Amino acid sequence: ATPTSIMVGTGKAAESGILFKGGEHLERTHALNAIVLDKTGTITKGKPEVTNFTGDEEALQLLASAEKGSEHPLAEAIVAYATENNMELVDVDHFIAIPGHGIEVTISSKQILVGNRKLMQDHQIDVGGAEQELVNYEIEGKTAMLIAIDGKYRGIVSVADTIKETAPQAIRELKEEGLEVIMLTGDNERTAQAIAKQVGIDKVIAQVLPEEKADKVKEIQDNGKKVAMVGDGVNDAPALAIADIGIAIGTGTEVAIEAADVTILGGELLLIPKAIKISHATIKNIR
Ligand code: ADP
Ligand code: MG
Repeated sequence: ATPTSIMVGTGKAAESGILFKGGEHLERTHALNAIVLDKTGTITKGKPEVTNFTGDEEALQLLASAEKGSEHPLAEAIVAYATENNMELVDVDHFIAIPGHGIEVTISSKQILVGNRKLMQDHQIDVGGAEQELVNYEIEGKTAMLIAIDGKYRGIVSVADTIKETAPQAIRELKEEGLEVIMLTGDNERTAQAIAKQVGIDKVIAQVLPEEKADKVKEIQDNGKKVAMVGDGVNDAPALAIADIGIAIGTGTEVAIEAADVTILGGELLLIPKAIKISHATIKNIR
């Protein structure tokens, strides 16, 4: 590999908004045969909005007040929805985030739980007839969360995030470059499958806890693959670091950008197949 051609390659990439941290990453990009993409903020825009709320006013007030303490995009969507509906938010006494499951909050000696089925199971909450409503949202690609107050099921809030317009084309091009494409998410299986279908991904690994994302990448590597990981979140950083090539979304968190080998500016997914093509063209010139 001549240093000059590598420099030309990374320079060309940089002009398009693909920032390699070093020439060796361009060489390793050439060898990739699998790519794992995070869902929220990577494949989707990461700007979710509430589409449905089932429950009474008190449930909405406590739900939104509880979520005010969370930095999760789902929480931001819920707070925005309550504010738009002129809901007065109240102060929180105690806040705990349960990664991958939801939140547990105390507000004037009431206990509020917001999160997925697992959170409700762990607290032995009977969600009664909510299951069918939950499933109906999930098959549409929405993320639905259950609300419980003082041990009683009180409602559902459903949130939708839209896919990036160029995602289907980017996925198609990645497949054309010979890569196996996999989606990785903490969200539930049904929602993940619905989003995957919209963008043309057939392999999904869902309900992955934040601390397990890196293990999943390692498993794919152990099956003999050279794996790229694409992500934007703090919880993607260990997976970005362990992957053969970590690709950070430029609009994502600083932590993800630091852990990655490559950053694509503006979160444009088409830059990923472009990076692969540049690596192929560069290495071909070398040989
Ligand atoms: P993602 O990979 O989509 O960022 P996370 O691991 O952050 O997923 O979250 C997984 C699931 O945990 C969410 O789909 C949701 O059901 C639940 N969850 C996480 N944070 C919150 C929150 N602040 N409020 C309610 N539910 C939450
Ligand atoms: Mg994300």
